[in-house]
Amino acid sequence: MERANGTDSETLLDCIVIGAGPGGLQACIHLGRYNFRVLLFHIPGGRTSYAKHLENYLGIPVVSGPVLLETGLSQVKSFGVAIEKAKVERITGREGAFEVLAGGKTYRSRYVIAASGANESLAPFKNLHRFFGHSYYTCMICDGYRTTGKKLLVIDRTANGVRMSVAMKQMYTKDVTFLAHGFSPAPVYKTLLEDEGIGLIEGRPEELLGEKNLEGVRLSDGRIIPCEVILGWGGITLNDEYLEGLDLERDAEGFKIATKSNGESSIPGLFVLGALRHGHSQAIISAGQGAEAAIEISTRIVEL
Ligand SMILES: Cc1cc2nc3c(=O)[nH]c(=O)nc-3n(C[C@H](O)[C@H](O)[C@H](O)COP(=O)(O)OP(=O)(O)OC[C@H]3O[C@@H](n4cnc5c(N)ncnc54)[C@H](O)[C@@H]3O)c2cc1C
Repeated sequence: MERANGTDSETLLDCIVIGAGPGGLQACIHLGRYNFRVLLFHIPGGRTSYAKHLENYLGIPVVSGPVLLETGLSQVKSFGVAIEKAKVERITGREGAFEVLAGGKTYRSRYVIAASGANESLAPFKNLHRFFGHSYYTCMICDGYRTTGKKLLVIDRTANGVRMSVAMKQMYTKDVTFLAHGFSPAPVYKTLLEDEGIGLIEGRPEELLGEKNLEGVRLSDGRIIPCEVILGWGGITLNDEYLEGLDLERDAEGFKIATKSNGESSIPGLFVLGALRHGHSQAIISAGQGAEAAIEISTRIVEL
């Protein structure tokens, strides 16, 4: 079978994959090993590129996000998948006949996998980037373990931080303080924190302190709160602009994209993976979803 030529927008491809995070890369590995005509679009960025040390990925004791992605990309190349460094701008069409606009050209494909993930929105604290992923974390599932036994400050703008503080104390460290960022928790939460032995500070963080290691946080009123690690607030924005205009079902919050368990969205033939999709977001989950979508697509292509 002739392999995909990424610059050839005339060929009807078997599958276009958007995004070279763990989900998109794993889908490409499976699709490439089926000898299908596959084209992967990618641009730098994505959540995995920020991960300093993934240590919950089976078979790999510890790896940085960028190294995991580079290794995955060369694995994908070795199976003959065509790769284009271009941003996908729009998708139209239907199962068997999708059109994907990227880099000023329109490509045609029978199936599409959207695996373009999400990007972090970080709090505007001075020096945050110095510590992000090393000692300032935003994801308990990813990095909670790294706070084990350390002096932890949980920072949140909502009472959700109370819940996080209690959970962190139950799982990782006895030394937890909650910094209520710009609000005063309701009395019921104050009592809960007191009962759990968790300190409460109300204030507005401005700057993270320390050169190599995090030493504390300076508040706008000048107070300094010592800590070794922070679980701070953050958020994500989905990389889904190119999906606008499609009639896609979203989750109950109207945010992430709803899919069937095999990853197929409400548009037949368009599969959605990873951080774009409802459910928990972890590298190994995205990779599993990539494998599943690829297998499902293969059964349709060869009518198994
Ligand atoms: C600091 C940090 C630490 C983390 N630690 C862990 C951990 O220890 N373990 C773990 O399992 N998970 C961890 N995660 C979460 C993990 O990174 C995500 O669950 C995972 O990245 C989701 O993968 P994904 O496949 O959805 O895509 P992403 O990794 O988000 O990648 C998507 C890719 O698509 C590209 N893209 C976006 N838009 C377009 C477009 N229009 N056209 C072409 N390409 C596009 C992006 O640039 C990116 O390269 C961490 C996340 C962060 C931020």
